Amino acid sequence: MRKVVVATRTFGRYTKEPIDYLERNGFVVLRVEKEEELREAIKDAEALIVGTHTVTREMIESSNLKVIAKHGVGVDNIDVEAATEKGIPVTITLGANSLSVAELTIAFIFALSRGLIWAHNKLFYEKKWEGYVGQEVSGKVMGVIGFGSIGREVVKKAVCLGMNVLVYDPYVSKDSVRLLEATPVDDLEQLLKESDFVSLHVPLNESTKNMIGERELSLMKKSAFLINTSRGELVDEEALVKALKEGRIAGAALDVFSEEPPDANSPLFECPNLITTAHIGAHTKEAIFRMNMMAAQSIVDFFKG
Ligand code: NAD
Repeated sequence: MRKVVVATRTFGRYTKEPIDYLERNGFVVLRVEKEEELREAIKDAEALIVGTHTVTREMIESSNLKVIAKHGVGVDNIDVEAATEKGIPVTITLGANSLSVAELTIAFIFALSRGLIWAHNKLFYEKKWEGYVGQEVSGKVMGVIGFGSIGREVVKKAVCLGMNVLVYDPYVSKDSVRLLEATPVDDLEQLLKESDFVSLHVPLNESTKNMIGERELSLMKKSAFLINTSRGELVDEEALVKALKEGRIAGAALDVFSEEPPDANSPLFECPNLITTAHIGAHTKEAIFRMNMMAAQSIVDFFKG
């Protein structure tokens, strides 16, 4: 029996199907939750399915792993270079959660434009019958940064809502953007200046870290909203807090943070024009099922050769 370590809470949570699938294919499944446990557990395991736990070079080098399956797509928590040097492939569940993250992005657009969270809290908790004057999203400019699996789904949905969509992604063809009835832009600055909503859909790496900082926020319209469902470190949180407090942008929605969970005393929680969720972009039953099965399948396929 081959040992596969599973370090993601949602694996097999709603249906045992992915665990049954691994067991039927000769694997014994060991679940771990804590980072410290993971280090020990992978020493004699041949495969790892990992969500957001950190997998360092040292952990990879002292393990017997033959394959690592990322339960998701952002591999910034795994030392892929160290894995590659050791000949360990790192698989991802490409596209499995794109729809879910895109739908959360759209939910944020409406929550921000109609003050939904504010309005709910007023009535539900304060019993105050107060109106919130929001705005329609139809006809507004949606700026999408990153035109990959998630970005494309966001573009399709925003176009359906009647938004004028701008896309900044220097690595894709302009025609592929136009095909979805969106407008490609050559520089980020133009997108930031013209958009009513700016949404991030790029991976975290050295070139994208803090890509939205003080300067970028200052280019945005005072009435604009920022949405980040990608990775916390893409946004300079200190600069964002300042921009929100000073009303230099209208509001923001964050599903991801530079530190997760964020410190309870983080100044982010002092901003009433900020909506926050706990990295739930991929947390739908459908996306979890697809991610589970794709991760399990990639491990079985690897050993079948
Ligand atoms: P993807 O690889 O399909 O697409 C990323 C796109 O970003 C690519 O088209 C690439 O060309 C573009 N890009 C890279 N650098 C850029 C730059 N500097 N400027 C503009 N564009 C750039 O990835 P995806 O599946 O669309 O996912 C995007 C990110 O969303 C992931 O890397 C991950 O961090 C995040 N994510 C978050 C959740 C969540 O739960 N909130 C779930 C899944 C993914």
